[in-house]
Amino acid sequence: MRLILFDIDGTLIKCGIQVKGIFSSALVEVFGQTGDLDGYSFSGKIDTQIVFDLQEGAGLTRPQVAEKLPLFKEVYIDRLERDLDGSKMIELPAVPDLLDTLAERDDVTLGLLTGNWEEGARVKLSRFELNHFFPFGAFGDGQLERTDLPPVALEKARQYTGREFETDDTVIVGDSILDVAAAQAHGIMSVAVATGWTPAVKLESAGADRVIPSLEHFDDLDLGL
Ligand SMILES: [Mg+2]
Repeated sequence: MRLILFDIDGTLIKCGIQVKGIFSSALVEVFGQTGDLDGYSFSGKIDTQIVFDLQEGAGLTRPQVAEKLPLFKEVYIDRLERDLDGSKMIELPAVPDLLDTLAERDDVTLGLLTGNWEEGARVKLSRFELNHFFPFGAFGDGQLERTDLPPVALEKARQYTGREFETDDTVIVGDSILDVAAAQAHGIMSVAVATGWTPAVKLESAGADRVIPSLEHFDDLDLGL
């Protein structure tokens, strides 16, 4: 049994510039400032980490940010649910056909590994009705760094399926250098897709085990599936 863990943004879908706007307006409402949003790379980051980085960078102390984090999360998720416009989003090539094919196999289990808070992830995926492919996942709610997510995903997989998954049985699919780093930190195979914000050459030099231009090429990979 193989466990395949998918990232969301840049891997399955793209939300476009709108999420930055929603995140920004929630930051202003809760913290009174955005911080250096334009100079910040969201790619591969955990939602909680993004809030700390931006607000500590703008002068708040860690306890000040931590105190308002639950309110920020509530405001952001509410706005995302209300304002995220599916018509301005892209479902990336081969999604959902690839997910359909993989989900039908009885030797493959699918999960998510994403820096999104779970509720935010579910809102984004709902716009293309992709949630049913992913009954469990590792999300950004409890962790601060992406490298902390793989063990959480393996434990969630065990709870959901009742089977033990080893790192050798696992594949992480993502579009950022941090997806690759999270896999590497645990000896997990990484498949990097160049449909996000990081060019293939950079994903290769980051040490991704496989690099493909898009998920249309996933079937060409010899993953021993
Ligand atoms: Mg991504």
